[in-house]
Amino acid sequence: KLTVLGSINADHVISVPYFAKPGETLTGHSYHIAYGGKGANQAVAAARLGAKVSFIGCIGDDDIGKAMKTEFEKDGINTRPIKSIANEMTGIAMIQVAESGENSIVISAGANGHLDEAVVAEFESEIAQADYLLMQLETPLPAIIQAAKIAKENNTQVVLNPAPARELPDELLSLLDMITPNETEAEILTGVKVVDEASAKQAAQIFHQKGIQKVLITLGSKGVFVSENGQGEIAAGFRVNAVDTTAAGDTFNGGLVTAMLEDKPLDKAIRFAHAAAAISVTRKGAQSSIPTRQETLDFLSQ
Ligand code: ADP
Repeated sequence: KLTVLGSINADHVISVPYFAKPGETLTGHSYHIAYGGKGANQAVAAARLGAKVSFIGCIGDDDIGKAMKTEFEKDGINTRPIKSIANEMTGIAMIQVAESGENSIVISAGANGHLDEAVVAEFESEIAQADYLLMQLETPLPAIIQAAKIAKENNTQVVLNPAPARELPDELLSLLDMITPNETEAEILTGVKVVDEASAKQAAQIFHQKGIQKVLITLGSKGVFVSENGQGEIAAGFRVNAVDTTAAGDTFNGGLVTAMLEDKPLDKAIRFAHAAAAISVTRKGAQSSIPTRQETLDFLSQ
C-alpha cells in the first residue's frame, strides 16, 4: 500500500499565446478550474494506475475542497487522512499554458500550509503501515521530515519528488530511499547544472553521497537519468505530440511508485511511468489528463 502526503490545489488555468510580460495585460482563452496540486495529482495517478492509496492532505472548509475530496473517493483513494481546516481556503494555483505547451505557475498555499507535524502525528499509522511514502515540497517542510522519520522507523520506503525546487537539509535527504528531481530541482539541490548525461551523473553522485540509493532525474521529453549506487544511464521516454505538460512529472512519480509496489524491476517501473506520463502530456489539464492503468497497458502494447 502507498501513502501520499502532499498538496491539494484548485488550478485556475488559462491558455495564452505566450507568458504575460511584466506590466502587460494579455488576453487569454479557455479559462477553467481544474483539480491539481502535486500531492493530489500523484495520489490520483497512483490510484488510477493501480495502487492502493491513502492520501494525507488538507483542504479548506469550502465547496471546491469538498468537491475534490469526492473526486478522490471516485478514484478509490482513502480520504480519511484528508483534514478540513476551519476558516481557511483550499490551496489554489494560477496556471498559464502557452501555445508552446509550456506552463507557468503561481501558488497560494491556503489549507496546504496547515499540513504540520500535528496532522502527521494524527495519521502516523497510515505512514507506518504503508510499503511506500511518496511526498513533494508544496506543504511545510517540518511535517515532511517528520513523516520521513516515521517511515524510516517502520521500514516504509521514502520517495521524494523535490518539487517545487528548493534547498533541503541533509537530515531529510539522508532519510530518502529515492529522489526524483527534474533538471532544475537537481541543480538547486546539488549545484550541478544538468545539461547532459555526464552532468546528470555528477548530480546523481552528490545525491548518493547524501545517502540516497536511487536517483531519477527527469529530463522532460528526453526521459530520465537513472542511477542506482552510481551506475547511471538515460532511460528514454516515449515520443508523443505534447499539448500540455501539466502533471507530467506527477503522473511519472505516481506511475513509478505504483510499479515498484508491484515489485517490478526499476527499468520496467520507469517504462510504465514513462508511458503514463507520455499519455498525460497529450491531454490538457492536471488530474483530468492522468490515464488509467488499462490505457497505459494498451499504450505499452502498441
Ligand atoms: P516535470 O514536469 O516535473 O518538470 P519532466 O518535464 O522532467 O518533469 O517530465 C517528467 C516525465 O514526463 C518525463 O520523464 C517523461 O516520462 C514525461 N514527459 C514530459 N514531457 C514529455 C514529452 N514532451 N513527451 C513525452 N514524455 C514527456
